Amino acid sequence: MTRRPLVAGNWKMNGLRAGLAELEAICAGYSGALKAKADFLICPPSTLVAEAAAKTAGKGVMIGGQDCHAKASGAHTGDVSAEMLKDAGARFVIVGHSERRADHAETDAIVRAKADAAWRAGLTAIVCVGERKEQREGGKALAAVREQLAGSIPEGASPDRLVVAYEPVWAIGTGLTPTPGDVAEMHASIRAGLGKRFGAKGEEMRILYGGSVKPQNARDLIIQPDVDGALIGGASLKAKDFLGIAAAYT
Ligand code: PEP
Repeated sequence: MTRRPLVAGNWKMNGLRAGLAELEAICAGYSGALKAKADFLICPPSTLVAEAAAKTAGKGVMIGGQDCHAKASGAHTGDVSAEMLKDAGARFVIVGHSERRADHAETDAIVRAKADAAWRAGLTAIVCVGERKEQREGGKALAAVREQLAGSIPEGASPDRLVVAYEPVWAIGTGLTPTPGDVAEMHASIRAGLGKRFGAKGEEMRILYGGSVKPQNARDLIIQPDVDGALIGGASLKAKDFLGIAAAYT
């Protein structure tokens, strides 16, 4: 089974319009062997989604949102719906990022409703899961992620509507990463879970690794079996680093 890798950037709450020059540099670097081998996605803050989508049109780099509300519209001040992201040119939306789970008390049930909302709007949901430090240290990482997956992914998932991102909470923005062996073990466990629930379709679903991926460690992490790309935070803000990570696929 060959799954086309997805190299995805999460700009978080970073980026002004002037920062879109980095996106143009990413588009310029997305050519040749890289374009032949991997998909590129950048998720800027929602203020930049429309302009980013316009700038990347026809260049192959896709744009996504970082979160969406479960409802399509209504009295939810400050929130953005999946339909709005789609209308602005997004193709994907990240849901259940650990920063959303921590800062906004998002439960698995909320994440699941957001993934459903993404599908309703015609977006692909990137559902994030990942254990906390004490769960890893207590030998409970696999069980914790299994439970999050079961609770966060709605029924009816298909490979074109769902991407899973495994992001150990303790590795995000810290410079720490699991060993390549631990990554392989977790991805195999996630793959088995998807297979159990979605049958043969589970084989085709992409599972990304995220957490302190840098050009220096990318190759070791993403060549692991069942790792189908990366979700990149800090290093996606600079085109040189993002392209340096993606170069692991060439
Ligand atoms: C993220 O926020 O999804 C992430 C993986 O961040 P970083 O690459 O900075 O650890």
